[in-house]
Amino acid sequence: MFKKIFVEKSISQHPQTKKILNKLNNKNVQIIDSYQDYFEKVKKPYLQKRNNLNLFLAKKKGKLVKETPNAYGLSGEKHFYFIHAYNCIYECDYCYLQGYFNSPDIIMFVNHDDIIKEMQKITDKSEDGLWFHAGEFSDSLALSHISQEMDQYLEFLRNNKKAKLEIRTKSVNTKALTTPLDNLYISFSLSPEWAIKEHDLKTPPLTTRLKAINKLYEKGFKIGIHLDPIIYEENFKDNYANFLKELNQHIPINRIEYISIGVVRFTSDVWREVKNNYPQSSIHQQELIKGENGLIRYNKPMRNWIMNTVKEEVLNYKIEPKKVYLCMEDLSL
Ligand code: SF4
Repeated sequence: MFKKIFVEKSISQHPQTKKILNKLNNKNVQIIDSYQDYFEKVKKPYLQKRNNLNLFLAKKKGKLVKETPNAYGLSGEKHFYFIHAYNCIYECDYCYLQGYFNSPDIIMFVNHDDIIKEMQKITDKSEDGLWFHAGEFSDSLALSHISQEMDQYLEFLRNNKKAKLEIRTKSVNTKALTTPLDNLYISFSLSPEWAIKEHDLKTPPLTTRLKAINKLYEKGFKIGIHLDPIIYEENFKDNYANFLKELNQHIPINRIEYISIGVVRFTSDVWREVKNNYPQSSIHQQELIKGENGLIRYNKPMRNWIMNTVKEEVLNYKIEPKKVYLCMEDLSL
């Protein structure tokens, strides 16, 4: 999977590093001072992720847990996110990572102990319930059999009932999820099958994801769903209606903990990369405009119509309206 593994000297003896190296059994390992001396030093074309992908094992420094922007999750409680990896093995053609980093190489930060200490401090200070989100710059589960950090976060959740954790994924790699917990939410990003085939390259097909959702739901895990990004196409309304019907056969929609709805959107940097990397994508036939905030997306009436159309379909399944929210709509992200 990885051509070469770079390991920062300061964490080369960290138990997490040893676990990962054991799992990968890759002899091409180089010890380095800092991943920042290599990663993004020169631009590495995004599509080299297909056949020339390196892995960096590193220590996350700086602010380890950050407050999220508004409209990130269900309103009413504080939301925070932490970063335990950069980049992803999948290739969604709209992915913002292609314009965010100058390299598709994967970074796994191994100091989960430091991240969890920070989560603990924030939780101790908070009088109310609060949310933590994983997977902002990567997929939280796709490589979890290699990164093997999940147990540490589950332990934190067992000891901190008021803290909730969202694990966000498009993968079906759910082996690390051993026991359901009241404060653990597994959220899946889903689209109708045509959209997954067309845009979510290298990700598991819809039917496989639905089976994984069903299995977790039957075991008692709490499930969230992100209908994001929605990309318009000719039979959009019917396709979403049919897709929700199929979803409802695998998990009753009114038993889903929350559903977010968002439309496709790009910063200029990401849009330039999408044109470069996926010139054949049907995304280029969409009527997108650049707004005053620099975001490239549908015009406002179109965005509202798309999101409200899907929201109405979702609400037909008698899910509580407060569990359905529109994602990042008021932000310049
Ligand atoms: S799964 Fe998420 S992070 Fe990975 S390529 Fe797709 S959009 Fe990007």
